[in-house]
Amino acid sequence: MPPRPEAFSSVMTLLWLFLSVAQGGRCAPAMPDLAPREWVPLPEWAKENGLKLTWSKRDESIVLTNQTDILSSKMDSLSAEIKGVNVWLFKPITMRNGQPCISLLDLGATIRPILFPGRNLTRISVKTICLDPGHGGKDTGGVAGGYVEKRYTLLLAKELGRQLRAAQFKIVLTRRKDKFLELEERPAVANQHRADLFISLHFNVAPQGEARGVEVYCLTPAATSSTNTRGEAANMAPVPGNRQDPQNVLLAYELQKSLVNKLSADRGLRRARFAVLRTATMPAVLIEGGFLSDSVEQKKIADPKYRTRLAQAIVQGVLAFRHAVQS
Ligand SMILES: [Zn+2]
Repeated sequence: MPPRPEAFSSVMTLLWLFLSVAQGGRCAPAMPDLAPREWVPLPEWAKENGLKLTWSKRDESIVLTNQTDILSSKMDSLSAEIKGVNVWLFKPITMRNGQPCISLLDLGATIRPILFPGRNLTRISVKTICLDPGHGGKDTGGVAGGYVEKRYTLLLAKELGRQLRAAQFKIVLTRRKDKFLELEERPAVANQHRADLFISLHFNVAPQGEARGVEVYCLTPAATSSTNTRGEAANMAPVPGNRQDPQNVLLAYELQKSLVNKLSADRGLRRARFAVLRTATMPAVLIEGGFLSDSVEQKKIADPKYRTRLAQAIVQGVLAFRHAVQS
């Protein structure tokens, strides 16, 4: 279960929409919520970056390739695959003046940091990692069929800590036992210890219907909307965690990629303004490692052998991120 959502800021959203529409640019006509100059023709961008673009008007598919598929999506869909991993876009790729256009928002905050980290990310060293087992004490987190989230987040954090220490990382835990912590205290522990990464661990519960698979969240950039509807909306103001936007999305991507390649159904890289992500001063993500409400996944999550594999996949994602950003 995720921590509480961001505050709603409809006035600021309307102001931003008005300012956006008031600007002019190169890819007309505008969607009502982005100025024309906030759209980039995809054929032009593909050429600049040495990629081949194929799009079909019949089935509305869009594919960017070099030797392999780099990015694929459908016209007017928020869902895209970046090198085989599902990533939720802020705006769908849309036809304008007879050619597909992608939003500058998505290029800047999603596509460039993931595809070209060398050109777009500040180099950092990754030595200390703060692990945050979600919930604890009076806050049970999600409960489904006798499976209680706070118990499994702590068990996963301990196993993950053991594996990361074996890989020579220094580990800080926000809690080591069944103890309640305010949401704001969790990133504060990471900040105090000058951790290089913050990883919050959770498991999901679906209120109704069937859902399974893994989601990795990073902080929603300023002036954009979060992926889920859970009461969130676009919010203009940047928060401290937004200083790491490019690293946040790459860390979330590498973790999602490793988890879905090795273990689980892919529910995609998502954005949210969770309280635990807003004030972290280092790259920060929140992993929803599966659904306790799903009869198959709840048994896996309760199995120490599966949690060992879950932790292994997270370690591989951390190593891939470190490889891309190591100073
Ligand atoms: Zn949770």
